[in-house]
Amino acid sequence: MLRIVKDSEPSLRQKCAPVETPLSKQNQELIDEMLRYLLLSQDPKYREKHPNCREGVGLAAPQVGHNVRMLVISYSTGDEEHPLVQYQLANPRIIVNSVRKCYLSGGEGCLSVDAEHLGRVYRDFKIVVEAYDVKAKQNVRITARGYDAIVLQHEIDHLNGILFYDHIDKVNPNKSIPGAVEI
Ligand code: ZN
Repeated sequence: MLRIVKDSEPSLRQKCAPVETPLSKQNQELIDEMLRYLLLSQDPKYREKHPNCREGVGLAAPQVGHNVRMLVISYSTGDEEHPLVQYQLANPRIIVNSVRKCYLSGGEGCLSVDAEHLGRVYRDFKIVVEAYDVKAKQNVRITARGYDAIVLQHEIDHLNGILFYDHIDKVNPNKSIPGAVEI
């Protein structure tokens, strides 16, 4: 089972290395294991048996001790047409970002961060990401808005050693930005 690297560990603060695509067998196994872990974390029965496991919607490779540029995301949307957002991405990079900002009303959380960090984490409302899609085995371009964009930015930040609370204003954690969308 994967062990989650916590924010007290310096390796979480390093910039991760790109991976070769198509993925090596080793990286393929790793990213599959990451998705498996993420899905287990969403299962209340599993969490009951493993009290240290917290529920997540995304996981980046450095969070499981591998400093390579890979991430997984999975969550239900409640939308009938697209009920599930699920990605296994390698070498993602943001190529377009909006001036407009957004933030989660309840703040962000992270499997690697046990302490509570209150405050607004402003993200770009809309982004376009280029990445190698591990499921489709090809390079893709993803346009994401709102919550989708927030989750992608949170996970891509991990690949650069950045944690969500780095974005919280130290002086005024609830600082408001005009025009920012609350989600
Ligand atoms: Zn995180």
